[in-house]
Amino acid sequence: MSLSITLIEGDGVGPEIIQATCRVLKATGLKIDWEVCEAGQLSFKKGISSGVPAETIASLKRTKVALKGPLETPVGYGEKSANVTLRALFDTYANVRPVRCIPGIETPFSSRPIDFVIVRENLEDLYTGIEYMQTPSVAEALKLITRKGSEKIIRFAFELARAEGRKTVHCATKANILKLTEGLFKRVFEDISTDYPDIKAHHIIIDNCAHQMVVRPEMFDVIVTTNLHGDIISDLGSGLVGGLGLASAANIGREVSIFEAVHGSAPDIAGKNIVNPMALLFSAILMLRHLNEFDVAHFLEQALLYTVAVDHAFPKDLDKNSSLTTQEFADRVIGNLGKKTEFWPERTYRPLLLPALNKPVLPSSRKDLGIDVYIESELMPQELGESLTRIALPSPFELTMISNRGVRVFPVLPDLTPETTDHYRARFFLKESSNELIDKDILEFICHVGTHHRWMHIEKLSEFNNTPGFTKAQAED
Ligand code: NAD
Repeated sequence: MSLSITLIEGDGVGPEIIQATCRVLKATGLKIDWEVCEAGQLSFKKGISSGVPAETIASLKRTKVALKGPLETPVGYGEKSANVTLRALFDTYANVRPVRCIPGIETPFSSRPIDFVIVRENLEDLYTGIEYMQTPSVAEALKLITRKGSEKIIRFAFELARAEGRKTVHCATKANILKLTEGLFKRVFEDISTDYPDIKAHHIIIDNCAHQMVVRPEMFDVIVTTNLHGDIISDLGSGLVGGLGLASAANIGREVSIFEAVHGSAPDIAGKNIVNPMALLFSAILMLRHLNEFDVAHFLEQALLYTVAVDHAFPKDLDKNSSLTTQEFADRVIGNLGKKTEFWPERTYRPLLLPALNKPVLPSSRKDLGIDVYIESELMPQELGESLTRIALPSPFELTMISNRGVRVFPVLPDLTPETTDHYRARFFLKESSNELIDKDILEFICHVGTHHRWMHIEKLSEFNNTPGFTKAQAED
């Protein structure tokens, strides 16, 4: 039986690495029906503003798996990134990046047994792209973390650890500072880890994680993290083990998964037949494992390792003196199919099984306590505080605090005058905490505030199961 896989050549060096990889895959003897599709520049030029034609979407829905070359992101003429479109359309929530020292490839870390996987949440966090100019000089981005998104990626990380026979999962967050967003991710990790007693679960602060990745990278097995942290540490990981020419990635969704090299379209070397195809070859190995073709994956991995570690055949980016072209390097890998190295620790891979998500446990009680109103003002904190206190007098609200860039500025701190911008947060609680927060009261109050000050947005202050669902400002009582 043959496998059906969508093939997207992509832009720049894409066709060269796709050609090399497909030739090597063919030489393994595996039967693959490639559904060749377009995305990226070609599609933009045909006027498809998403960069992803309907035929490509239909093919992916059919095959559920794609091997993809890099897609150039248009700069300056409005179109969205075709990569982001693919990710969003197919909900590929898990970005998987192995970080492994490859024998034969010289790096400052070559002698170290580095072998871990970074699992990055791929859809949420600051990458939802929800941003506002709050004032002409203050920009804001929404960091969105959901329990469902966190549970999906964290379960995925534990299941991946099991499927690859790994023993430890580290969850890397900034929960010490971002107590609600990153804190939610950490709490979900702690909850879910109890379902995996066979895997050691540790939390690590993301900055320490970055430090440890450099000083003690051997300590990691699987790292699961939120989107922005994952973006940064996965590039750090690639740097540890030899750079872009080697870094592979899988974007896994419940239905569709896309396999690609980490690098971009490398326009500076496109068409020269010198691009390193190893990153896409390693991505193809990830794809074969995803398709439960473990033996072929191992066969191909061994040939690739033999080529660099024993034959010392390198593409040009790894050895300036090498005269091997992209396709000649692929020929060397093909010639080494069937050969084995002793350098690569054997790993037993099993199919990765994704369990259904738990039904979310909703809080049994919730109460709205007040509102935060964001105000643009050139006034000094004391003046603004007095004005808002007066405005609140006839309302059900009382002003308890004003902050600027997260630091309390009213009531004014003794002996401290933090620098302020024109972007204030005014916190109003209900005067009678036993009262209900009513929309009509909020709207009337906001209209009143609006006659004196320019407001930008309002947030409700709620508590769930008697726990505040909002953070305090620095130095707030
Ligand atoms: P890039 O990764 O294309 O290139 C950066 C540098 O690394 C270049 O000098 C390039 O020659 C070199 N390089 C990259 N891969 C190599 C390989 N396999 N062998 C040898 N040298 C290699 O990054 P960029 O220049 O910032 O991006 C170019 C375009 O690619 C942009 O439009 C960007 O948006 C897009 N991009 C796409 C993806 C993707 O499709 N997943 C990822 C990153 C960038």
